Amino acid sequence: MVRAIVGANWGDEGKGKITDMLAQTSDVVVRFQGGHNAGHTIINDYGRFSLHLLPSGIFNDNTTCILGNGVALDIGKFIEELESVLAQGIPTPKILVSDRAQILMPYHVLFDTYEEERLAGRSFGSTKSGIAPFFSDKFAKVGFQVNELFMPEEELRARVANVVEKKNIELKYLYNKPELSVDEVFGQLMKYKEMIAPYVADTAKFLNDAIKAGKTILLEGQLGTLKDPDHGIYPMVTSSSTLAAYGAVGAGIPPYEIKDIITVVKAYSSAVGAGAFVSEIFGDEAEELRKRGGDKGEYGATTGRPRRVGWFDAVATRYGVQRQGATQVALTVLDVLGYLDELHLCVGYEIDGEIVKDFPVTWKLEKAKPVYKTMPGWKCDIRGIKEYDKLPKECRDYIEEIERQIECPIKMVSNGPGRNEIIFRK
Ligand code: GDP
Repeated sequence: MVRAIVGANWGDEGKGKITDMLAQTSDVVVRFQGGHNAGHTIINDYGRFSLHLLPSGIFNDNTTCILGNGVALDIGKFIEELESVLAQGIPTPKILVSDRAQILMPYHVLFDTYEEERLAGRSFGSTKSGIAPFFSDKFAKVGFQVNELFMPEEELRARVANVVEKKNIELKYLYNKPELSVDEVFGQLMKYKEMIAPYVADTAKFLNDAIKAGKTILLEGQLGTLKDPDHGIYPMVTSSSTLAAYGAVGAGIPPYEIKDIITVVKAYSSAVGAGAFVSEIFGDEAEELRKRGGDKGEYGATTGRPRRVGWFDAVATRYGVQRQGATQVALTVLDVLGYLDELHLCVGYEIDGEIVKDFPVTWKLEKAKPVYKTMPGWKCDIRGIKEYDKLPKECRDYIEEIERQIECPIKMVSNGPGRNEIIFRK
């Protein structure tokens, strides 16, 4: 059985927590897109972890973790992160890396930095992890797949020479920066070969065999619908698809095998980077929510940047849930809202005097003003509650209003960052 765990919003919905929780009963956990540019925070018996590239299944002895072909693989970061979690005392995880995964090179990080410099004030708020230049190269067919590290050296060197020639034109004429040399890039690839060799496998075959054998597989998404390059707030998006559908491509399995799409929705809004954010709040009101949000405040797990925060956006979330093809929703971080006297839900957008309910294209979104519905707060701490019926009425009303608005059943409610802080609904 294959399940996907994906985000409906701008990312940071708490997918890591849900994945860690469900990984306990899964045979395989797969990252199928993105790179080390975003983070998942996980809190379990081993401690508190910030994972960037490693799948959130690494805490279970009997789970195999896979970095699929759809991932942007920074081999240096991969080894660094693995060493760091091992140093925190977790048992050595079983990890396989797709032989078709593309390698994120140190020069991708440089290009990312140079491009942000060139754009200056007009930048997209990149994390400067090299993700955008990496995916540009992948689709321009000037990247390197992991398996190519193992091809005859002379053939690889010739590929490197082609790539370097092209990169140097940009370095010299667009950015006015030092050029690359073939020896340097080839030498880097040989170092990577040694580092990654123990993990390389035909992971698509592994997964297809696992499906045949009836294993339980989790596909773990990074970021959320609104950062999808096609369906998100283009161009303020990421460079690989954040949709469950892409799980089939990024893992190498049949699309019809994905039976359950758990879409994670946060009980309020948060976003990093630039871009329209209709229900955003500012000033003291925002600072209060930011401080209380997540498990340690709303600050990026990778970058430490303060996240932008806002009220729950039903227009964006209904769209996000629909584009994921959600079969169920997990509503997270509800506990932090217990301090509020009242909560506002953005249930419509006003654009040029007209009220719309369907999420618009980006240039119209930029003009949207929120239309709010206000609900009373529950004014208490709901952490520790295990049964849905024990939640205060105002809290259940909030959940059920969200459920009505997003048109998808909320089957899990997360009321704390810990692995077991979850309420299942029938
Ligand atoms: P991901 O990228 O979707 O995995 O999300 P992140 O891990 O970046 O962000 C979610 C943040 O919320 C992390 O700090 C989690 O520890 C925290 N978190 C997840 N679920 C809950 C919850 O139900 N309550 C609280 N208070 N924090 C949560």
